Amino acid sequence: MLEFQAVKDFLNNKTILVTGAGDGIGRAAALEYAKYGATVILLGRTVKKLEAVYDQIVESGAPMPAIIPLDLKGATEQNYIDMAETIEQQFGHLDGVLHNASLLGALGPFEHLDVSSMEDIMKINVTAPAMMTKALLPVLRKAPSASIIFTSSGVGRKGRAYWGPYAISKFATEGMMEVLADECDGTSVIVNTINPGATRTEMRAKAYPAEDPMSLKTAQEIMPTYLYLMSDDAKSVNGQKLSAQ
Ligand code: NAP
Repeated sequence: MLEFQAVKDFLNNKTILVTGAGDGIGRAAALEYAKYGATVILLGRTVKKLEAVYDQIVESGAPMPAIIPLDLKGATEQNYIDMAETIEQQFGHLDGVLHNASLLGALGPFEHLDVSSMEDIMKINVTAPAMMTKALLPVLRKAPSASIIFTSSGVGRKGRAYWGPYAISKFATEGMMEVLADECDGTSVIVNTINPGATRTEMRAKAYPAEDPMSLKTAQEIMPTYLYLMSDDAKSVNGQKLSAQ
Protein backbone atom coordinates (compact mmCIF):
# COMPACT_ATOMS: atom_id res chain seq x y z
CA MET A 1 0.00 0.00 0.00
CA LEU A 2 1.35 3.41 -1.02
CA GLU A 3 2.36 5.65 1.89
CA PHE A 4 0.89 8.98 0.78
CA GLN A 5 0.29 11.54 3.49
CA ALA A 6 -2.53 13.72 2.23
CA VAL A 7 -2.42 17.15 3.82
CA LYS A 8 -5.51 19.20 4.61
CA ASP A 9 -6.99 21.06 1.63
CA PHE A 10 -4.30 19.83 -0.80
CA LEU A 11 -6.95 19.55 -3.53
CA ASN A 12 -8.31 23.07 -2.96
CA ASN A 13 -9.26 24.81 -6.21
CA LYS A 14 -9.09 21.55 -8.17
CA THR A 15 -12.06 20.18 -10.11
CA ILE A 16 -12.15 16.40 -10.47
CA LEU A 17 -14.62 14.25 -12.41
CA VAL A 18 -15.33 10.73 -11.11
CA THR A 19 -17.30 8.17 -13.15
CA GLY A 20 -19.36 5.59 -11.31
CA ALA A 21 -19.37 7.99 -8.35
CA GLY A 22 -22.57 6.62 -6.81
CA ASP A 23 -21.21 3.39 -5.39
CA GLY A 24 -18.15 1.34 -4.45
CA ILE A 25 -14.68 2.69 -5.18
CA GLY A 26 -15.98 5.67 -7.19
CA ARG A 27 -18.13 6.80 -4.27
CA ALA A 28 -15.19 6.52 -1.86
CA ALA A 29 -12.92 8.47 -4.24
CA ALA A 30 -15.50 11.24 -4.72
CA LEU A 31 -15.89 11.61 -0.94
CA GLU A 32 -12.11 11.60 -0.38
CA TYR A 33 -11.39 14.15 -3.14
CA ALA A 34 -14.10 16.42 -1.70
CA LYS A 35 -12.74 15.94 1.83
CA TYR A 36 -9.37 17.32 0.70
CA GLY A 37 -10.94 20.36 -0.94
CA ALA A 38 -11.75 19.39 -4.53
CA THR A 39 -14.92 20.32 -6.35
CA VAL A 40 -16.11 16.91 -7.48
CA ILE A 41 -18.21 16.20 -10.57
CA LEU A 42 -20.20 13.06 -9.83
CA LEU A 43 -21.00 11.07 -12.98
CA GLY A 44 -23.10 7.91 -12.96
CA ARG A 45 -26.28 6.28 -14.14
CA THR A 46 -28.33 5.99 -10.91
CA VAL A 47 -29.35 9.50 -9.91
CA LYS A 48 -30.53 8.48 -6.43
CA LYS A 49 -27.06 7.15 -5.54
CA LEU A 50 -25.37 10.27 -6.95
CA GLU A 51 -27.72 12.47 -4.94
CA ALA A 52 -26.86 10.59 -1.74
CA VAL A 53 -23.13 11.22 -2.35
CA TYR A 54 -23.90 14.84 -3.24
CA ASP A 55 -25.80 15.32 0.04
CA GLN A 56 -23.01 13.72 2.05
CA ILE A 57 -20.44 16.06 0.50
CA VAL A 58 -22.60 19.16 1.08
CA GLU A 59 -23.25 18.14 4.70
CA SER A 60 -19.51 17.74 5.29
CA GLY A 61 -18.94 21.37 4.33
CA ALA A 62 -16.71 20.47 1.34
CA PRO A 63 -17.01 22.47 -1.90
CA MET A 64 -20.37 22.14 -3.65
CA PRO A 65 -20.21 19.16 -6.04
CA ALA A 66 -22.00 18.75 -9.39
CA ILE A 67 -23.94 15.81 -10.79
CA ILE A 68 -23.86 14.48 -14.35
CA PRO A 69 -26.41 11.69 -14.82
CA LEU A 70 -25.16 9.58 -17.72
CA ASP A 71 -25.41 5.91 -18.67
CA LEU A 72 -22.13 5.09 -20.40
CA LYS A 73 -23.85 2.29 -22.29
CA GLY A 74 -26.01 4.61 -24.38
CA ALA A 75 -23.89 7.78 -24.33
CA THR A 76 -22.81 9.23 -27.68
CA GLU A 77 -19.78 11.27 -28.68
CA GLN A 78 -22.05 14.37 -28.75
CA ASN A 79 -22.98 13.76 -25.08
CA TYR A 80 -19.28 13.98 -24.15
CA ILE A 81 -18.70 17.07 -26.31
CA ASP A 82 -21.66 18.81 -24.62
CA MET A 83 -20.40 17.67 -21.21
CA ALA A 84 -16.91 19.09 -21.87
CA GLU A 85 -18.42 22.42 -22.96
CA THR A 86 -20.52 22.63 -19.80
CA ILE A 87 -17.49 21.84 -17.61
CA GLU A 88 -15.44 24.52 -19.37
CA GLN A 89 -18.22 27.09 -18.96
CA GLN A 90 -18.76 26.30 -15.27
CA PHE A 91 -15.24 25.59 -14.06
CA GLY A 92 -12.89 26.97 -16.74
CA HIS A 93 -10.67 23.91 -16.61
CA LEU A 94 -10.58 20.33 -15.31
CA ASP A 95 -7.74 19.06 -13.06
CA GLY A 96 -8.52 15.37 -12.96
CA VAL A 97 -10.62 12.50 -14.27
CA LEU A 98 -11.03 9.16 -12.53
CA HIS A 99 -12.43 6.65 -15.02
CA ASN A 100 -13.86 4.18 -12.55
CA ALA A 101 -17.28 2.95 -13.79
CA SER A 102 -17.15 -0.55 -15.23
CA LEU A 103 -19.32 -3.51 -16.10
CA LEU A 104 -18.20 -6.97 -14.96
CA GLY A 105 -20.62 -9.08 -17.03
CA ALA A 106 -20.92 -12.84 -16.66
CA LEU A 107 -17.82 -14.92 -15.95
CA GLY A 108 -17.49 -18.26 -17.72
CA PRO A 109 -15.67 -20.32 -20.32
CA PHE A 110 -14.78 -18.75 -23.67
CA GLU A 111 -17.11 -21.14 -25.55
CA HIS A 112 -20.03 -19.54 -23.68
CA LEU A 113 -19.01 -15.98 -24.50
CA ASP A 114 -22.08 -13.84 -25.19
CA VAL A 115 -21.24 -11.41 -27.99
CA SER A 116 -23.95 -8.88 -27.19
CA SER A 117 -22.84 -8.75 -23.54
CA MET A 118 -19.22 -8.42 -24.70
CA GLU A 119 -20.20 -5.40 -26.81
CA ASP A 120 -21.80 -3.74 -23.77
CA ILE A 121 -18.68 -4.41 -21.66
CA MET A 122 -16.37 -2.99 -24.32
CA LYS A 123 -18.64 0.06 -24.76
CA ILE A 124 -18.81 0.87 -21.03
CA ASN A 125 -15.27 -0.10 -20.04
CA VAL A 126 -13.28 1.03 -23.12
CA THR A 127 -15.13 3.07 -25.78
CA ALA A 128 -16.95 5.34 -23.31
CA PRO A 129 -13.80 6.39 -21.38
CA ALA A 130 -12.00 6.83 -24.73
CA MET A 131 -14.74 9.13 -26.10
CA MET A 132 -14.97 10.98 -22.79
CA THR A 133 -11.20 11.53 -22.62
CA LYS A 134 -11.09 12.71 -26.24
CA ALA A 135 -13.75 15.34 -25.47
CA LEU A 136 -12.17 16.38 -22.15
CA LEU A 137 -8.53 16.71 -23.26
CA PRO A 138 -8.82 20.39 -24.30
CA VAL A 139 -10.35 21.36 -20.93
CA LEU A 140 -7.78 19.20 -19.07
CA ARG A 141 -4.99 21.02 -20.94
CA LYS A 142 -6.35 24.31 -19.60
CA ALA A 143 -5.45 23.23 -16.03
CA PRO A 144 -1.96 24.04 -14.68
CA SER A 145 -1.53 20.26 -14.38
CA ALA A 146 -4.05 17.48 -14.91
CA SER A 147 -4.30 13.78 -14.06
CA ILE A 148 -6.20 11.07 -15.91
CA ILE A 149 -6.64 7.79 -14.04
CA PHE A 150 -7.99 4.70 -15.78
CA THR A 151 -9.12 1.78 -13.62
CA SER A 152 -7.56 -1.57 -14.36
CA SER A 153 -7.69 -4.94 -12.62
CA GLY A 154 -5.42 -7.86 -11.82
CA VAL A 155 -6.98 -9.60 -14.85
CA GLY A 156 -6.03 -6.62 -17.03
CA ARG A 157 -2.37 -7.32 -16.32
CA LYS A 158 -2.37 -11.13 -16.40
CA GLY A 159 -5.15 -12.98 -18.18
CA ARG A 160 -7.10 -15.50 -16.13
CA ALA A 161 -9.43 -18.34 -17.17
CA TYR A 162 -13.17 -17.53 -17.25
CA TRP A 163 -12.76 -13.74 -16.88
CA GLY A 164 -13.66 -13.27 -20.59
CA PRO A 165 -14.69 -9.84 -21.92
CA TYR A 166 -14.09 -8.04 -18.60
CA ALA A 167 -10.42 -9.09 -18.60
CA ILE A 168 -10.10 -8.26 -22.30
CA SER A 169 -11.59 -4.79 -21.64
CA LYS A 170 -9.06 -4.17 -18.84
CA PHE A 171 -6.13 -5.11 -21.14
CA ALA A 172 -7.59 -2.58 -23.61
CA THR A 173 -7.72 -0.04 -20.77
CA GLU A 174 -4.01 -0.57 -20.03
CA GLY A 175 -3.29 -0.19 -23.77
CA MET A 176 -5.33 3.01 -23.98
CA MET A 177 -3.40 4.41 -21.01
CA GLU A 178 -0.03 3.60 -22.65
CA VAL A 179 -0.98 5.19 -25.97
CA LEU A 180 -2.33 8.37 -24.34
CA ALA A 181 0.47 8.61 -21.77
CA ASP A 182 3.03 8.47 -24.59
CA GLU A 183 1.17 11.24 -26.45
CA CYS A 184 1.01 13.35 -23.27
CA ASP A 185 4.64 12.77 -22.31
CA GLY A 186 6.30 16.06 -21.33
CA THR A 187 2.97 17.94 -21.20
CA SER A 188 0.90 19.12 -18.24
CA VAL A 189 -1.31 16.00 -18.43
CA ILE A 190 -0.36 12.72 -16.75
CA VAL A 191 -2.09 9.42 -17.56
CA ASN A 192 -1.87 6.27 -15.41
CA THR A 193 -3.82 3.18 -14.37
CA ILE A 194 -4.69 1.91 -10.90
CA ASN A 195 -5.48 -1.71 -10.12
CA PRO A 196 -7.57 -1.40 -6.93
CA GLY A 197 -7.00 -5.03 -5.91
CA ALA A 198 -9.65 -7.05 -4.06
CA THR A 199 -11.99 -4.47 -2.51
CA ARG A 200 -15.27 -4.82 -0.59
CA THR A 201 -17.85 -3.69 -3.20
CA GLU A 202 -20.92 -4.98 -5.06
CA MET A 203 -18.79 -5.90 -8.07
CA ARG A 204 -16.37 -7.96 -6.00
CA ALA A 205 -19.28 -9.76 -4.28
CA LYS A 206 -20.73 -10.60 -7.71
CA ALA A 207 -17.41 -12.05 -8.90
CA TYR A 208 -16.72 -13.95 -5.65
CA PRO A 209 -20.11 -14.76 -4.05
CA ALA A 210 -18.66 -17.26 -1.57
CA GLU A 211 -16.00 -14.89 -0.22
CA ASP A 212 -16.31 -13.25 3.19
CA PRO A 213 -16.50 -9.51 2.36
CA MET A 214 -15.12 -8.69 5.82
CA SER A 215 -11.79 -10.26 4.75
CA LEU A 216 -11.36 -7.49 2.13
CA LYS A 217 -10.11 -3.93 2.32
CA THR A 218 -12.83 -1.29 2.12
CA ALA A 219 -12.87 1.19 -0.75
CA GLN A 220 -11.91 3.93 1.69
CA GLU A 221 -8.81 2.01 2.82
CA ILE A 222 -7.36 1.86 -0.71
CA MET A 223 -7.65 5.62 -1.32
CA PRO A 224 -4.01 6.75 -0.81
CA THR A 225 -3.05 5.83 -4.41
CA TYR A 226 -6.16 7.60 -5.77
CA LEU A 227 -5.26 10.72 -3.78
CA TYR A 228 -1.58 10.57 -4.71
CA LEU A 229 -2.27 10.56 -8.47
CA MET A 230 -4.39 13.72 -8.12
CA SER A 231 -1.70 15.49 -6.08
CA ASP A 232 1.12 17.76 -7.23
CA ASP A 233 3.57 15.11 -5.91
CA ALA A 234 2.59 12.97 -8.93
CA LYS A 235 3.18 15.69 -11.54
CA SER A 236 5.88 13.69 -13.31
CA VAL A 237 4.29 10.25 -12.87
CA ASN A 238 3.13 9.24 -16.35
CA GLY A 239 2.40 5.94 -18.10
CA GLN A 240 2.58 3.96 -14.84
CA LYS A 241 0.55 0.90 -13.81
CA LEU A 242 -0.06 1.41 -10.10
CA SER A 243 -1.62 -0.96 -7.59
CA ALA A 244 -3.69 0.42 -4.73
CA GLN A 245 -2.83 -2.53 -2.48
P1 NAP B 1 -19.22 -1.25 -8.24
O1 NAP B 1 -19.38 -1.26 -6.76
O2 NAP B 1 -20.03 -2.17 -9.08
O3 NAP B 1 -19.43 0.24 -8.74
C1 NAP B 1 -19.36 0.52 -10.11
C2 NAP B 1 -19.91 1.89 -10.37
O4 NAP B 1 -19.94 2.10 -11.80
C3 NAP B 1 -21.34 2.05 -9.89
O5 NAP B 1 -21.52 3.34 -9.34
C4 NAP B 1 -22.15 1.88 -11.16
O6 NAP B 1 -23.38 2.57 -11.17
C5 NAP B 1 -21.23 2.51 -12.18
N1 NAP B 1 -21.59 2.07 -13.53
C6 NAP B 1 -21.67 0.80 -13.97
N2 NAP B 1 -22.11 0.81 -15.24
C7 NAP B 1 -22.33 2.09 -15.58
C8 NAP B 1 -22.81 2.73 -16.75
N3 NAP B 1 -23.21 2.04 -17.80
N4 NAP B 1 -22.89 4.08 -16.77
C9 NAP B 1 -22.53 4.81 -15.69
N5 NAP B 1 -22.08 4.26 -14.54
C10 NAP B 1 -21.99 2.91 -14.50
O7 NAP B 1 -17.73 -1.55 -8.66
P2 NAP B 1 -16.33 -1.30 -7.90
O8 NAP B 1 -15.92 -2.58 -7.31
O9 NAP B 1 -16.41 -0.08 -7.09
O10 NAP B 1 -15.38 -1.07 -9.15
C11 NAP B 1 -14.85 0.18 -9.51
C12 NAP B 1 -13.76 -0.05 -10.51
O11 NAP B 1 -12.72 -0.85 -9.93
C13 NAP B 1 -14.19 -0.80 -11.76
O12 NAP B 1 -13.53 -0.26 -12.87
C14 NAP B 1 -13.74 -2.21 -11.52
O13 NAP B 1 -13.51 -2.91 -12.71
C15 NAP B 1 -12.46 -1.96 -10.76
N6 NAP B 1 -11.99 -3.08 -9.91
C16 NAP B 1 -12.66 -3.40 -8.77
C17 NAP B 1 -12.17 -4.43 -7.97
C18 NAP B 1 -12.85 -4.83 -6.67
O14 NAP B 1 -12.38 -5.76 -6.01
N7 NAP B 1 -13.93 -4.18 -6.27
C19 NAP B 1 -11.01 -5.12 -8.33
C20 NAP B 1 -10.37 -4.77 -9.50
C21 NAP B 1 -10.86 -3.74 -10.29
P3 NAP B 1 -24.67 1.94 -10.46
O15 NAP B 1 -24.44 2.09 -9.00
O16 NAP B 1 -25.76 2.78 -10.98
O17 NAP B 1 -24.75 0.51 -10.89
